[in-house]
Amino acid sequence: MTKSNSINQYLRQTQDIYGDKLYLKINKQTNIPNSSENSLEDFNCAINTCQKCQLGSSRNNFVFGVGDKNADLLLVGEAPGEKEDLEGIPFVGRAGKLLDKILSAISLSRDKGVYICNVLKCRPPDNRDPLPSEIEQCEPYLKEQINLIKPKLIVALGRVAAKTLLKNDLALKDMRLIKHDYYGTPLIATYHPAALLRNQNLKPAAWEDFKWIRNLIN
Ligand code: URA
Repeated sequence: MTKSNSINQYLRQTQDIYGDKLYLKINKQTNIPNSSENSLEDFNCAINTCQKCQLGSSRNNFVFGVGDKNADLLLVGEAPGEKEDLEGIPFVGRAGKLLDKILSAISLSRDKGVYICNVLKCRPPDNRDPLPSEIEQCEPYLKEQINLIKPKLIVALGRVAAKTLLKNDLALKDMRLIKHDYYGTPLIATYHPAALLRNQNLKPAAWEDFKWIRNLIN
């Protein structure tokens, strides 16, 4: 990418995230705004008081994400639930415990090689599905997290995350087993761990997906 393309891309992303206020971190040697120099933690601090949508006023905690900042694998869920909203950490409820077990079965964990976040950073009331307007406001945050982490693979957990990221309205079964592209990063879709808790019959297919995920990142 040329210097001017990279500056334009940076400015567009900055505008998506921060609106028309300019937030620049300048690399003194090149004078190029360099978002990859910002740590995930800086980014969290810059956005975690967000009030761009109505969820900002009902949340207990902004749930930025958790895990290895150099992860090869980025898992993206839908939105924080009640427990996640209270603790400020994604996937800490029953579904999260199952997710941890699945990761351990492929020799990964949330602090080793994996980063976990959600499409929405704030809990929708009564765990309703994210609204398109909420996704539109929040997705630039996810894009910047991807930019900072640079995972080898993104895995969308569940239909809501997958259709949100892939901008379609397909059933999860029609999005599985395909290597999609999310702005240049490979993305695959698998069942949400909460769906596996509700329907044990989905577990063998999910296990196949996670074996494939292990192979894709190795
Ligand atoms: N479900 C999600 O999609 N994300 C969480 O963080 C918890 C449950």
